Amino acid sequence: MAISRGVRYDSYNLFVSYEKDGHIGWGEAAPGNSEGAATPEAVQEALEKFIATGIEGFSIQTLYDRAREMQIPPCAYVALDTAFWDWTAKKAQLPLRELLGFSIPHTPTSVTIGINPPEIVKERVPLLLNGTTVQSLKIKLGSPDGIEADKMMFNQVVESTKKYKVKLRVDANGGWDVTQAQHMMQWLAERRVDYIEQPLKEGEEEGLKTLFKGRALPIYVDESCRFSQNIPGFAAHVDGVNMKLMKCGGITEALRIIATARAHGLKTMIGCMSESSVAIAAAAALTGGIDHIDLDSHYNLAPDPSEGAPMINGVTLPPEIPGHGAHLKEEFYA
Ligand SMILES: [Mg+2]
Repeated sequence: MAISRGVRYDSYNLFVSYEKDGHIGWGEAAPGNSEGAATPEAVQEALEKFIATGIEGFSIQTLYDRAREMQIPPCAYVALDTAFWDWTAKKAQLPLRELLGFSIPHTPTSVTIGINPPEIVKERVPLLLNGTTVQSLKIKLGSPDGIEADKMMFNQVVESTKKYKVKLRVDANGGWDVTQAQHMMQWLAERRVDYIEQPLKEGEEEGLKTLFKGRALPIYVDESCRFSQNIPGFAAHVDGVNMKLMKCGGITEALRIIATARAHGLKTMIGCMSESSVAIAAAAALTGGIDHIDLDSHYNLAPDPSEGAPMINGVTLPPEIPGHGAHLKEEFYA
C-alpha cells in the first residue's frame, strides 16, 4: 500500500495505490472542510487507522461497511474503495465500467462556471467553450449578494453563450429560501434551464415539500444526499439525487445510491469535488447508468497530476482498458 500526494492549485489531494498479484489499483481522496477530513494529513491518518484493522481476505463491500462503522471520513475512504475496485477490474482484465455492468456513456458532462460578476462571466465563457466539445454548462447561483446578483450573472451567461449551442443547468448550492427558490425556479424555467440543483440548504429538507408542489423545474439534491439511506427521507419531494464519490466514500456506496434512487423512481446525477483524473475516471465508470453527468474538475487542473479521463465529444469517457483507466503520473510520486 503506497500513499502519494499530487498538487492541485493551492491544495493537495492524496493518492493510494494497492499492489497485489502483479496488478496496481489506484485511488484518490480530495480532502474537504465539510467532508470530515480537511487536509491530506487527516486523510492519511484515517486511512492508516483503517488499514491497521486488516484489509486482506475481506470483500470490498465488507470493508466499506467497516469503514462506515469506524466513521472513517468518506472523502478519505474513497481512495481505498476505488483502488480496490480498480485492482479487481484489472485482475479480471475488464474495464471497471464493464465489470460493473454499465454501458459506454454517451451523456456529455456539464462544465461548471462559478459565482462571478458579469464581467468575469464574459471572460470565462469563451475560455470554457472556444475550441472545446463542451455541450452543457452548470451555472452556480445562490450568490451571497442575493437573487438580483444571480439574475445579472445568469443573464450574462445567456448573452455570452448565444453563439454556442449549450444546455444550461443551475446549482444554487443551498443559497435560497423557499420563497426565493420558487421565484427563481419560475424565472429560470422561462429561460429554458434544464433543472435546479440543491435550491435549499442541507438540513432544510422540510422546505422541499412546499417547493416540490407545482415546481417549475425538476429538483435535484446534492448536499442533502450523502448516502443511499438518506434517499427514502426526501424521495417523495425531489426529482433526482446528485451523488459524489467524495461524499459517499466510493464506488461501493455509489452503486447503492443508484439502486436506491431507481427503486424510488428518481433520476440520478454524478458530480465531483476538486478531483484529478483518477477519481474522475472511477466515477466515469458508472456514468453509463446515470442520467446527468458533472465530471469536469480535472479539466481545471494545471497540471492534472493524473491522466485517464479525457473529454471526447463532450463526454468524460472512461477508457476501454482494464480498471478505471487512470493513474498518477510518475513525476508526482512522493
Ligand atoms: Mg452541487
